[in-house]
Amino acid sequence: MDLDWSPADLAFRDEVRRFLDENLTPELRRAGRLSTSVYPDHEASMEWQHILHARGWAAPAWPVEYGGCDWSLIQHYIFDRETTLAGAPALSPMGIRMVAHAIVAFGTEEQKAYFLPRILTGEVFFCQGYSEPEAGSDLASLTMAAVDDGDDLVCTGSKIWTTHATEANWIFCLVRTSKLERKQQGITFVLIPMDTPGIEVRPLVMTSGEQVQNQVFFDQVRVPKKNVLGRVDDGWTVAKYLLNFERGGALGPMLQVLAESLAAQANTQTGPNGGALLDDPAFAARLADARIRADVLEILEYRTMAAISHGKNPGPAASTLKILGTELSQQLTELALEAAGPRGRVYQPHATMPGGPVADFTAPEDGYVSGEEWQAVAPQRYFNDRAGSIYAGSNEIQRNIIAKATLGL
Ligand SMILES: Cc1cc2nc3c(=O)[nH]c(=O)nc-3n(C[C@H](O)[C@H](O)[C@H](O)COP(=O)(O)OP(=O)(O)OC[C@H]3O[C@@H](n4cnc5c(N)ncnc54)[C@H](O)[C@@H]3O)c2cc1C
Repeated sequence: MDLDWSPADLAFRDEVRRFLDENLTPELRRAGRLSTSVYPDHEASMEWQHILHARGWAAPAWPVEYGGCDWSLIQHYIFDRETTLAGAPALSPMGIRMVAHAIVAFGTEEQKAYFLPRILTGEVFFCQGYSEPEAGSDLASLTMAAVDDGDDLVCTGSKIWTTHATEANWIFCLVRTSKLERKQQGITFVLIPMDTPGIEVRPLVMTSGEQVQNQVFFDQVRVPKKNVLGRVDDGWTVAKYLLNFERGGALGPMLQVLAESLAAQANTQTGPNGGALLDDPAFAARLADARIRADVLEILEYRTMAAISHGKNPGPAASTLKILGTELSQQLTELALEAAGPRGRVYQPHATMPGGPVADFTAPEDGYVSGEEWQAVAPQRYFNDRAGSIYAGSNEIQRNIIAKATLGL
């Protein structure tokens, strides 16, 4: 493994840095800084997507013919790393990072021509309808019914935890078209406009108070068969393909940024011995442990990337990275809450930029904020981060994958 960037890679890094200096406005950096979860403020995220799109960098991982960049794996990593280090708000993953790849691989020419350019501009904004109340980790148990009726499928059932269903104008769904021998068979992948009659979205209030996830109800919803992606009854193939794109990115640098800013914050706080919290040996040791883990995570990301770029199978690396990344993030948000002290107990979402509306909260008329920006954001981040070990395949499921792949259990 060669950890040194080549001169061409360094030149590319500098080009990305110049672009970020010129285009990442203070408002967008603020949105990144005040994000309470992996889902930033929707408007800021879309504004950043438009800026990236104008430069041709909104969907670098797509094939070039559809608007992607002809970058090496290392260039992709450098781009992710630099945008993360600069504090850019994240883009919503469901369209560009997820369903678009499935459309490229399984879509008809008509589907590709309609969806791909519109996903890039943000005109089409997707949410993901996989999970159901009785089908999460065991996704193939899904039961949302789609009955064949001439040119249409008629869908009835419900999807749950659907992130950004209130913002989205399209949803990609897995539905049950047949009951066959294996539960993975008889599933179909469909694309449904959210304004189709019979769809109702009910927001779920999370522990953080935010309403980013939803339950979506479908009552006799008519979906034209031309909206099926792939073949009827063979949606599991599409679903599995898409899941390969759900994880990834530069997690190590993201957590390094979090650890560095936490160190700066702890330096301004009074610790138990009267000096700076950062000088408290117990706190400093836990922060150092987290910082070292973030570096280890980045090295593992390099190693995985090196294996892939040399045509090797990285094995269950995505599972290892997911577990390490989410557990480390939880460790850091816990430390940040501790560092925020009593101010971190105050619930003040008006001082943050959550990824969705906040329920039952009236901001003080004078906009008063107790403590500093980072203290205000700490509690919501802490609560939101508990979800990291659940979504995108729970960490227990990832451990099962590792046990099977490396231990043969
Ligand atoms: C913030 C957030 C956003 C989400 N966004 C979306 C979205 O946009 N679209 C979407 O479709 N879904 C979304 N999800 C749903 C997510 O994919 C599911 O929550 C996840 O798959 C787990 O399913 P479940 O909640 O039904 O838990 P269950 O599958 O019921 O699991 C409950 C517990 O049992 C454990 N468990 C289950 N099976 C096993 C096993 N075989 N071995 C060991 N332990 C096991 C799990 O790890 C977990 O701890 C989101 C979830 C969250 C929290």
